Amino acid sequence: MSNRAVLSIDFELFTQTPAYRSASGTTDRDGVGLDGGRFFREILAEYDATATAFVVSSVAQSHPDAVRALADAGLEVASHTHTHQLLSDLDSDGRRAELAESKDVLERVTGEQVSGFRAPAFDITDDHFDLLSDIGYTYDSSVVSSRSIPGWYGGEYDIHRPVPASAVHPDAPDSITEFPASVMPGLQLPLTGTWLRFFGPRYTILGMRLLARRGITPMLYVHPWELVDLPAVEGVPTRVYVRTGDWMRRAVERILQQDFEFTTAQAVLAGGETAATQLQRGETP
Ligand SMILES: [Zn+2]
Repeated sequence: MSNRAVLSIDFELFTQTPAYRSASGTTDRDGVGLDGGRFFREILAEYDATATAFVVSSVAQSHPDAVRALADAGLEVASHTHTHQLLSDLDSDGRRAELAESKDVLERVTGEQVSGFRAPAFDITDDHFDLLSDIGYTYDSSVVSSRSIPGWYGGEYDIHRPVPASAVHPDAPDSITEFPASVMPGLQLPLTGTWLRFFGPRYTILGMRLLARRGITPMLYVHPWELVDLPAVEGVPTRVYVRTGDWMRRAVERILQQDFEFTTAQAVLAGGETAATQLQRGETP
């Protein structure tokens, strides 16, 4: 049996990224990224693969067909907030509203239950897991155990496979499982995101194999706006544009060609892959 992997997509529009929001320029192009979402859906189908889409639910309101199409294609739809604001920029009530409204909207648009959540920019606060639990989520994927990257994130966690949320934050309720985004063993940089575009698919694929050898299911992530040609916008950092569009589409296809079973986060968690079950089996988590 081949190893499993999750190639998730953080389903947000280019105009909702922090890089665009803090730029001086603007674009009048509407829905920048939706074509990338369509490509992602179609290439998964071509390789008999599925995935989890962490969806910004305001996109499900403005473009409901695009989000419904994900669910109809068999992807798991999870939440990536309602508006893609950084959770630490909001107060606790604001965070609660983002988490609750996105779950409501996505469930209404897709007709499916929403269980998973990922925070924009992997930015979470001390009350995060309590809020998730109150609102009825069962898993989170907002941790990336990256080395510290100045001006970015990282250096806070050392978690490389699904664990009870109390392993992330001591007061977190155990009803929530954390499924962290994968980093390269040793190097401790994320396997995907900007790093896939900087280092190329061979870097990502090597990391997937190293993790699989340790019995870890890789959790990768891409964005729909990485899969399209972006409009030039004054003030958006150059790194945002690197290898977006066709190059990135080929990179995603290269990853899907590997001997992994690409599935949803929910399917992996339902299979019971947590540190606790590994311990029960006498393995080292
Ligand atoms: Zn995002």
